[in-house]
Amino acid sequence: MQATFVNKLYGVTQLPILSRQVLPLRISAAVSQKRNASHEADIVVVGSGPGGYVAAIKAAQLGMNTICVEKNLTFGGTCLNVGCIPSKALLNNSHYYHMAKSKDFANRGIQVENVTLDLPQLMKSKEKAVTALTGGIAQLFKNNKVKPLKGHGKITGPNEVSVLGEDGNVVDTVRTKNILIATGSEVTPFPGIEIDEEVIVSSTGALKLAKVPEKMILIGAGVIGLELGSVWSRLGAEVTAVEFLTAIGGVGIDGEISKAFQRVLTKQGIKFKLGTKVTGATRQGDKVSVTVESVKDAKKEELECDTLLVCVGRRPFTSNLGLEEQGIERDGKGRIPVNSRFQTVIPSIFAIGDCIHGPMLAHKAEDEGIVCVEGIAGGPVHIDYNCVPSVIYTHPEVAWVGKSEEDLKTEGVEYTIGKFPFAANSRAKTNDDTDGLVKVLGDKHTDRLLGAHIIGPGAGEMINEATLALEYGASCEDIARVCHAHPTCSEAFREANLAAFSGKAINF
Ligand SMILES: Cc1cc2nc3c(=O)[nH]c(=O)nc-3n(C[C@H](O)[C@H](O)[C@H](O)COP(=O)(O)OP(=O)(O)OC[C@H]3O[C@@H](n4cnc5c(N)ncnc54)[C@H](O)[C@@H]3O)c2cc1C
Repeated sequence: MQATFVNKLYGVTQLPILSRQVLPLRISAAVSQKRNASHEADIVVVGSGPGGYVAAIKAAQLGMNTICVEKNLTFGGTCLNVGCIPSKALLNNSHYYHMAKSKDFANRGIQVENVTLDLPQLMKSKEKAVTALTGGIAQLFKNNKVKPLKGHGKITGPNEVSVLGEDGNVVDTVRTKNILIATGSEVTPFPGIEIDEEVIVSSTGALKLAKVPEKMILIGAGVIGLELGSVWSRLGAEVTAVEFLTAIGGVGIDGEISKAFQRVLTKQGIKFKLGTKVTGATRQGDKVSVTVESVKDAKKEELECDTLLVCVGRRPFTSNLGLEEQGIERDGKGRIPVNSRFQTVIPSIFAIGDCIHGPMLAHKAEDEGIVCVEGIAGGPVHIDYNCVPSVIYTHPEVAWVGKSEEDLKTEGVEYTIGKFPFAANSRAKTNDDTDGLVKVLGDKHTDRLLGAHIIGPGAGEMINEATLALEYGASCEDIARVCHAHPTCSEAFREANLAAFSGKAINF
């Protein structure tokens, strides 16, 4: 029997198979049922993103007769096809390129001559990761007896989903006890700016540019913009981020960490125009002229670039889903309202992931998918959204969980702060990778950990330790008394907790 390795966040890697086979396993290849058929199910999951596919597998594991409907050619939704996975592949490999190209390697005693960029190969490597992971879902469905149906799912009754073919006609009908909507999100358009995915691109176009732009402008300095801006900056583009707000990093980032992050990215060559709004953009051949205006004094400026990346956020995708016909109204942001069991106003119809409230993150969608189907099977349903971590996969990485200092001030909670810089951490020093710090916030009276904020090497891994501590209600002292392996960057997290509860770290 072959071993299957399950990656909780992003799907499945079937190492023995994938080392031999990297081919686009499309849904049609995984779907062998007759069309124009009627089906019976306990649950139909509409959408196979990280929310939908994980929920479908869990439902099947709980004994439900499960169908998953997906309209795209491949499984995995935004995350695997045009989100988390391809962006992280580009971030990883552009980082290597940048290290080799800049003085970094030379400073470490590694001389490499004539470093050149092979952009098609970089893209191929990204595609390989995407293909492996999306194909892995098809295999997992098979292993867990989830029946996939290819087509656009439309809810045609409280207990019925119709599957529409490309021509819009019904190709399958499913009678089902429960329906789970996991239809995700799409790029939020910028009013008046038309995305052509060549010169004016969304995140999807920015993942597959045919050449490195000389000048790139980002509309928005949130997570996705800064990740993709970093990729192209490392590959040689001159990147300018225009942001309406006065801080970078998006919703939830701690103010002090945001400032440190901006300093690091500026040092790396990214330029920022904060407190500035884009008022329009016009494509002239291969160039784009972008007009911007200062929020403070309305001072106008015209900028030019060869790639404009529009990344002002994402919005729920619920198009032609049949919600109106079923009497399910959306809120002001287009999200599907649900109760604490992820149930809509129709008791047999549930919704999870990017199309409902909460952070638009793959792991949040997955966790909701799992507890939602456990709830349908009669189990308890609980998610603490305060314990959902956020990560920005730049270098250094930025990660946080729980409350920021700004949150605690607003809520009137008295807190202690513990900080530890990576410049004083032995592993970071050994690796000559010392930008950043760990900052933890504890309750002043109980010492309970309230929030952790990290900018530094491996922050995206380290934040999981903080999340575990937060989930289990650990105090800063608890964390500081846990033995941490040496030398590791995680020792900085321990030291920050030591500083929070005792007032002093050891090594700083
Ligand atoms: C560039 C980028 C980078 C990102 N990086 C990260 C990251 O590093 N970490 C992270 O946590 N998040 C990241 N995200 C966000 C993450 O991708 C989403 O939060 C996540 O994919 C949401 O999962 P979901 O299952 O709710 O929806 P989606 O992944 O959007 O999947 C929805 C699926 O439903 C299908 N569908 C929609 N309507 C129908 C219908 N009517 N019938 C049939 N199928 C339908 C769609 O085709 C799609 O496959 C990133 C996003 C982008 C764009």
